Amino acid sequence: MSINVVILGPPGAGKGTQADRVAGTFGIPKISTGDILRESIKAGTSLGHQVQAVLAAGQLVDDGLMIEIVKERLARADTQPGFILDGFPRTVTQARALDRLLATKGLTVLAIEVPNEALVRRLTNRRVCQSCGLNAPPQASDTICPRCKGTFAVRPDDEESVVRERLRVYERQTQPLLEFYGARPTFFRIDGNGTPDEVYGALETVLGPVRVGRSSATKADVR
Ligand code: AMP
Repeated sequence: MSINVVILGPPGAGKGTQADRVAGTFGIPKISTGDILRESIKAGTSLGHQVQAVLAAGQLVDDGLMIEIVKERLARADTQPGFILDGFPRTVTQARALDRLLATKGLTVLAIEVPNEALVRRLTNRRVCQSCGLNAPPQASDTICPRCKGTFAVRPDDEESVVRERLRVYERQTQPLLEFYGARPTFFRIDGNGTPDEVYGALETVLGPVRVGRSSATKADVR
């Protein structure tokens, strides 16, 4: 049985960090649409040119383009055992498209919740490896990435005014997904206010049973 997971949450909720751990534990690829877009910008591809200004402004890339990117990515063989999507869907249109792509395959949706002021603090303080995207605290700016030996820097869209715009965009365009998925038995709200280990513990509590095929019998909010 495959483990198909969507991790939802506002910017700074820890989606990327948690998705990395889930991917490692469950042997499934993490598919981060933000990483895909940033890689295209770095590589100077036509997609990169197309989306650069949108990312810099903290706005969302066009639904049609994002759906196409995810459709191609999910068609690759490494998604056979499942996948964890980080940053997609971000609109109800994208969520409907994902349902169509998955057809009868199951989907577990994890929504990480963190209050807004904590998010601004986290995002404006973090540093991100320019090569592999690993997150680190501010003092890491002078150090070498332990994972890939790349260098850390502030992500351009982590500047405070852009962060606040990203949060507004989240509330307007992505928060409606909580209602879209809310009534499904495989939708779980996770308290994201703890340490990364605590949050991961909550995620594992939900995903453990999914791995052994009991996903729809375990509906409960994990706090
Ligand atoms: P993230 O790394 O997930 O915070 O994404 C960084 C930026 O990439 C977002 O602020 C958007 O501009 C863009 N982006 C990533 N995923 C999507 C998506 N599913 N739909 C639209 N834009 C996206």
